[in-house]
Amino acid sequence: MKDYYQILGLQKGASKDEVKKAFRKLAAQYHPDKKTGDEAKYKEITEAYAVLGDDKKKAEYDSYGRAFNGAGAGGAGFGGFNWADFAGQQGGFAGQGFEFDISDIFENFGFGGGHTRQNRGRDISIEINLSFKEAVFGASRKVLITKNSLCSECKGTGAKPSAGMTNCTTCGGNGKIRETRQSILGSFTTVRECSVCQGRGQVPKERCGHCAGAGVRRLQEEVEIKVPAGIENGEVIRMTGRGEAMPNGQPGDLYIKLHVEPHKTIKRDGTTLIAELPIRLTDALLGGEYKVETLDGFIEIKVPMGISHGEMLRVRGKGVPTDSGRGDFMVKINIELPKKLSKKAEKLVEELREEGV
Ligand SMILES: [Zn+2]
Ligand SMILES: [Zn+2]
Repeated sequence: MKDYYQILGLQKGASKDEVKKAFRKLAAQYHPDKKTGDEAKYKEITEAYAVLGDDKKKAEYDSYGRAFNGAGAGGAGFGGFNWADFAGQQGGFAGQGFEFDISDIFENFGFGGGHTRQNRGRDISIEINLSFKEAVFGASRKVLITKNSLCSECKGTGAKPSAGMTNCTTCGGNGKIRETRQSILGSFTTVRECSVCQGRGQVPKERCGHCAGAGVRRLQEEVEIKVPAGIENGEVIRMTGRGEAMPNGQPGDLYIKLHVEPHKTIKRDGTTLIAELPIRLTDALLGGEYKVETLDGFIEIKVPMGISHGEMLRVRGKGVPTDSGRGDFMVKINIELPKKLSKKAEKLVEELREEGV
């Protein structure tokens, strides 16, 4: 994922004002019409501003900042989080023109705005909760999502399958409409997509009865989500093409934000799992055996003689799964001192003191 703050030469989380200032400065410098221009760079900073200059998108970007990238074997349909796609889809940069507060700047530079029609279904985002253990080892979840799906009868064409298609009369079957307009600068011709047939050149002879010609229907669909091992709280998975369907277009994507519940005794630091182990003073002095709960069940560990408070014992291979095996499980020793001593214990400790312990 691109770091939009870095592109604008800012620190993460910079304010809207700072973003605006930085963009204006860089846009003036890199505009392709300028001597110092650089088109690629200009596009990059414009894209960054398209997200960071918009309150809603900025908030989303800030919270999805730690995106999930790549997936384990068998994770078909998972992809990295492609912010450019996401931002584009949300009606922003690559979409229907610029909806945010930079129109003044584009006008100043005579920037026309590329009006490529975006035939893509809406993205859907959902959130799911995972237990600590599921996040470590991976999990599979089935969720029901109500969304626009392609009509099973007409496969999204909106046409009654038996009736077939016919040439669009609006565009004469070529899908494009040519318009010539007069202006002070002379006449100019624009070509736009035919809105009646959406550029296909063909229209249904009869509407599909199943979807009333819409090509899509609102349906409840069961989606199986495979959460790869080692996911962290707040990470986002993208399932390409599992969002809302769109007739004659690409389906949107499904975004799944994961909430991981904490474990009552085990904590996580990257691929390492950590648990505290309270031990008795005498076991710290003489050594002892303890049972410790790991995510693989209870294990027996030997506490060596003379261990210190806060010392860590390493159990190899009981941590978070990684590409090359598993991380470690660390046991942090917590020596518990008795709050009160019996007469007998006090006497024995006194003797220890005399021994110089
Ligand atoms: Zn249909
Ligand atoms: Zn047409």
